[in-house]
Amino acid sequence: MTLDTGLLDQAKAAEARVIDAERDADVARAEFHRAVRRLQLAGGSLREIADALGLSHQRVHQIVEGAGGSRPWRVRVRVPKDRRQRRGIGGDMLRCSFCGKSQPETKKLIAGPGVYICDGCVDLADRVIADGEPSATPLSSITVIGDDPAAPKCSFCGKRRDQVTGMAAAEEVSICTECLSLCQEIIAEELDAAGEEPAT
Ligand SMILES: [Zn+2]
Ligand SMILES: [Zn+2]
Repeated sequence: MTLDTGLLDQAKAAEARVIDAERDADVARAEFHRAVRRLQLAGGSLREIADALGLSHQRVHQIVEGAGGSRPWRVRVRVPKDRRQRRGIGGDMLRCSFCGKSQPETKKLIAGPGVYICDGCVDLADRVIADGEPSATPLSSITVIGDDPAAPKCSFCGKRRDQVTGMAAAEEVSICTECLSLCQEIIAEELDAAGEEPAT
């Protein structure tokens, strides 16, 4: 038998709404997790946050630690120069996957799973997504990824293009808007933390 086209259209429309709703839920969840992390960064204890939000202590801990999904990839930030020797970091050079700059050439180098992005490329990728205009780096060029089902997934969190509001890509790496805002947050936090460090 052939499918009733009227019913099929209804099913397709409903399916589209489910996909939209799931994406909205993903975005809302990520925002929620970020907000919880900010509460904690602002000095709230896990217990206080859990009580205020009606969550279990363990759940808040998971969110803050990233197991809740807000920080799906491990983040490594460039260690300030004065701490590098103490930690024995130096020799092997990590490089930004987008522009090729080595760690010492950047203010911050943030690491995802096998990929790296520097503070400069975070700004650049944000701008490329906002303007829609490609931007050249010494290594390649950063371009906007359109709504293409065959588009590469975010190299940092693995989300597909249709699961996020925007994505930028260089030659072999891509990064989504959610990971970019996470990077911006990490960079801002680190700079804050550096400024607040007591003189020794
Ligand atoms: Zn870079
Ligand atoms: Zn991502």
